[in-house]
Amino acid sequence: MSPRSNKSDHTAQDRLARLLIELMLIPGLSGHEGRVRRHLATALRDLGLETRTDRLGNLIATLEGDTKAPSVMLFTHMDQLGFVVRKIEADGFIRVERLGGVPERALASQAVLLCIGEGHDRAGVIANKSHHATTPEEKYKVVPYMDLYIDAGFSSREEALAAGVDVGTPVVYRPQAFALSQSRLTGTSIDDRAGCAVIVEAARALIAQRKRPTVHFVFAVQEEFNLRGALTAAQILQPDISIQLDLLLATDTPDMAYRGDVTLGGGPAMSLYSFHGRGTLNGTIPHPAMVSLFESTAARLGMNLQRSAHSGALTDSSYVQLVGQGVASIDVGFPMRYSHSSLEVCDLGDLEQLTTLLVAAIGGIDRTFSLDRDEYP
Ligand SMILES: [Zn+2]
Repeated sequence: MSPRSNKSDHTAQDRLARLLIELMLIPGLSGHEGRVRRHLATALRDLGLETRTDRLGNLIATLEGDTKAPSVMLFTHMDQLGFVVRKIEADGFIRVERLGGVPERALASQAVLLCIGEGHDRAGVIANKSHHATTPEEKYKVVPYMDLYIDAGFSSREEALAAGVDVGTPVVYRPQAFALSQSRLTGTSIDDRAGCAVIVEAARALIAQRKRPTVHFVFAVQEEFNLRGALTAAQILQPDISIQLDLLLATDTPDMAYRGDVTLGGGPAMSLYSFHGRGTLNGTIPHPAMVSLFESTAARLGMNLQRSAHSGALTDSSYVQLVGQGVASIDVGFPMRYSHSSLEVCDLGDLEQLTTLLVAAIGGIDRTFSLDRDEYP
């Protein structure tokens, strides 16, 4: 299915691009998602949906449907990784603690934003030792984040404090977004503002669709921090099914080819296996009913559905699936390159097809839809 097959597709892709870019330009470090949440709440209210926020900060909107069909929690995370100020040096340089999976080898000379408050944020740059003074041994060495410092133009600790910077101030990659081609976009936190944009667009379509189960749209907090933010929403909502949206690692670059067959622009993808062993010991093996639903829906739409299996990364699904008597869970998403770097890359056609796939799959969940494990091999 071509992402640009007709005029209405065009409009959906334009809306997705617009909202995604808006969201990418709003800072929202884990635990500090307020600005992103308010923007999303407005977008949902514009669609006629009521929103609520749980105590942890998750944004929830419920679209009522057939109460005899299994209920669905469609969710994604709205936070992003970054840093927290840990010390301000006497000379005004700022030291940070990392928050989330920050790639240390891609930090020096990055632009950052010190999130002091709307209208008061300050730009900074992660210092990189002057090249002319770099020794041969230093040239190919990664500087650990503990040794890095941010230059935000302050010449003393007092000056930084007066500007509102203090221990605990959130710091993110300086928000940016720009097109690489007609359909490819790069910028900060495509992970997972793209998921947020897709859910808003899916909500628009599901509102217009009469045949549907009850769907709870959830924009979760703190995913990059501890992967458990969505848990409180799942405990409140007690869904039968959870569908989690996030990036899936595109493996079509020279350094990733051995890992799989996920192509940027090749359409949406589903995860058949994820696992993270480094201290986390969790992952998601999707419920077979959900795998079969997405496979049959994609086939019906004539859409390519890519498959991913990987260790080293996981999502909130790992914890959401354990709520109550178990939630039938699956991770679906869009291929993305350069995860967690300051400039990630995605394809708008993938996002649009993912939206179409989600709406059709959720529309296929009716009162005959069985989650009985014994009906599957
Ligand atoms: Zn993510």
